[in-house]
Amino acid sequence: MPELPEVETTRRGIAPHVVGAGISEVIIRRYDLRWPVSENLPELEGAVFVSVKRRSKYLLLGTETGETVLVHLGMSGSLRVVPPAEDWKKHDHIGITLTNGLQLRYHDPRRFGLVMRVAASELQTHPLLASLGPEPLEADFTGKHLHAALRNKTVPIKVAVMDAKTVVGVGNIYASESLFRAGIHPKLPADKLTKPKAEKLVAAIKEVLAESITQGGTTLRDFLNSDGQPGYFKQRLFVYDRKGEPCRVCGEKIFHCVLGQRATYWCGVCQKR
Ligand SMILES: [Zn+2]
Repeated sequence: MPELPEVETTRRGIAPHVVGAGISEVIIRRYDLRWPVSENLPELEGAVFVSVKRRSKYLLLGTETGETVLVHLGMSGSLRVVPPAEDWKKHDHIGITLTNGLQLRYHDPRRFGLVMRVAASELQTHPLLASLGPEPLEADFTGKHLHAALRNKTVPIKVAVMDAKTVVGVGNIYASESLFRAGIHPKLPADKLTKPKAEKLVAAIKEVLAESITQGGTTLRDFLNSDGQPGYFKQRLFVYDRKGEPCRVCGEKIFHCVLGQRATYWCGVCQKR
């Protein structure tokens, strides 16, 4: 599943080819994504893209009038920049042809994503965006913020940091790895997280995500070629998916359980409640 680092890499990959380009044609081959593709998307023909932003795992392609194309890659989606004459692959559902001779192609085998037109006036209050918590890589996501946000939460800390109302974009792998780096047990009740531990955890979340985005940077050229399918980043994992293997720090076996319906891994020596 594309996580925040893959979505950010997509943003960086497509932005140079999209910003400043006009929309000459919108081709929709399938409407039935998880949320139906906006039928009025082709009415954007003639508009010019002026920005490619990211909020959580959503991409926001803004035009000069403020109308925005909202994209989510779902479980298996990708956006590539291709020559318009390029053969449509199976599962290529939408093409936005640009005035610069390129085409933005949306591909999604499992069709769990979305491509939606949002009016400028609806952007701030859009139901998919309005309740999202802070961005993990922004300066306003601090230990102080996290500590305050968890004050009344008794769920395990891992469940709490994966809740988009606490902070967006911390998926299962990133939550497990961040907690390991911060030395925090995943089952610690969220309201028991001390201020110093909250500082450590925020630093670890930023570090893990930033490392993954840096690795994704090596795949940026893949957004502009026919088989551009940006791969998932192979970060060196300390605990995730390492059940029974030795901890890379202390050598003890990595534990596993299911927490909040998600596979959870930790080291009983390095991580404390
Ligand atoms: Zn250990």
